[in-house]
Amino acid sequence: MAQHKTEAFLLRQVDYGETTKIFTLLSRDAGKLSVIAKGVKRPKSKMGGALEPILRGEFSYYRREGANMGTLSRGEVLDGYEYLRSDLARLSLASLFAECVILSGEADSHSGEVYDCLAHFLSTLERAANPVAHTAQYLLKFLALLGFRPELRICTVCGRKAESFPGVRSSRGGVVCGRCVSREPVTFPLDKGLLNALRASQQMDYERLATLKMSAAQANQALRLMVQLLREHLESDLKSYGFLESMVLRPAKSESARKKEK
Ligand SMILES: [Zn+2]
Repeated sequence: MAQHKTEAFLLRQVDYGETTKIFTLLSRDAGKLSVIAKGVKRPKSKMGGALEPILRGEFSYYRREGANMGTLSRGEVLDGYEYLRSDLARLSLASLFAECVILSGEADSHSGEVYDCLAHFLSTLERAANPVAHTAQYLLKFLALLGFRPELRICTVCGRKAESFPGVRSSRGGVVCGRCVSREPVTFPLDKGLLNALRASQQMDYERLATLKMSAAQANQALRLMVQLLREHLESDLKSYGFLESMVLRPAKSESARKKEK
């Protein structure tokens, strides 16, 4: 059995028996992998309770050639993102991103880029003034990394370029123009303000994303649109989104309410 050592995100844990867990990791160089962490739930485990989603760590594991599952021998936390655990809304947004990475087959072949995207996303999620907008912008980037960059400038049916469009048709992966909309109805109507914000986000590198201002309502719409596109592409309901929709997006907690809490 070969031993491996890799820097990775711990994305998911599943209980396996009394004392064991199975972790899903995203490694920068090895893509997604599953490792069994024997005895990790024991109070005196060397790996301890510190290992839980979502964190970045250094992991050592053994794996037989050709096997799907490795055996974790050591895990060391590099960044535990403690702030996320104290803010349920932000933790839920991070969990949504992690679920999308887990579900995506393409994330394996682009693991370095997806890793960097996730690293940027998590390290800035703490300070993000508008965490919902922040998440929508990074999911937009994530879709592009997978090869599914939403088309927001050219009608995906006839190829016509326009300044504004009635909306997006998720199965087309982008906008549909006024002439084509009767044949190919939109699944997500888009107003000009949101369309422009998303177009601008596509042009920006990670560092500049936070300079773009979106209202709370726009941010909610942007996230809903990303979820619709991701559901289409990943062919999944996205379990972690249910909580977000009911607890985070619907009451649309105002900026002032958030400040009062601090
Ligand atoms: Zn058209």
